[in-house]
Amino acid sequence: HSHHLQKTERMRVISDLAASIAHEIRNPLQVTRGFLQLLLRRADDDTKGHYTMAISELDRASVIISDFLTFARPEQDSVAPMDVKQELCNIETIMGPMVMLHGGTLRVQASDRLLMLGNVSKFKQAIINMIKNSIESFQEQGNIEVHAYAEGAEIVIRIADNGLGMDAEQIAKLGEPYFSTKTKGTGLGLMVTFRIIEVMKGTLEFRSEKGKGTEAIVRFPLIRLD
Ligand code: ADP
Ligand code: MG
Repeated sequence: HSHHLQKTERMRVISDLAASIAHEIRNPLQVTRGFLQLLLRRADDDTKGHYTMAISELDRASVIISDFLTFARPEQDSVAPMDVKQELCNIETIMGPMVMLHGGTLRVQASDRLLMLGNVSKFKQAIINMIKNSIESFQEQGNIEVHAYAEGAEIVIRIADNGLGMDAEQIAKLGEPYFSTKTKGTGLGLMVTFRIIEVMKGTLEFRSEKGKGTEAIVRFPLIRLD
């Protein structure tokens, strides 16, 4: 038993460390990218390709960090009662511009008084990873609908898109580290999302149809005030 505790504590230290390192690494990556872009402008045809490659590899490093740890902050590791509607509305504000940029729409509809025990930063990371996947699945006119409501003792959050969809084989692999069907995917987004939801005592389930769209269904225990 004590061995188990030690291991959990060690994992905590490692993940706190990883989160702060990821945060610190962003700035030098951005600075380096800026200088490479300057060099690219002055490069001759022989070396242009090398700079372009270096920039795209830096961008790949940024995507890995953001799939993994965008909102992770060591000091915010604690859980507290949080309002799902409020957080989903924040997410709508954060993600709205990215959805628009991809020519789609994002609509959030949430009931009042959906209180749960959770960590706001991690919650955001989990939901945003799924919304990013929906955006990346857009075919023509992409629509994302997020619905949140109470059902018995649970909060249900549904994230539905009309994108590419998945077959049964793909659905079975969701959450596996490095499973990605994208040329620039990390295959880490849903692994992190599943883990975050599990830690907050929730569940995540996917329904999808190839060519039609995908729905992610998240459930968390509801805190009842009455
Ligand atoms: P990545 O986005 O880097 O590929 P993820 O873990 O976020 O990694 O997702 C893994 C895979 O699951 C994606 O590559 C894609 O094939 C599939 N997927 C996840 N969400 C959706 C979605 N909303 N629509 C279609 N496919 C999806
Ligand atoms: Mg992803």
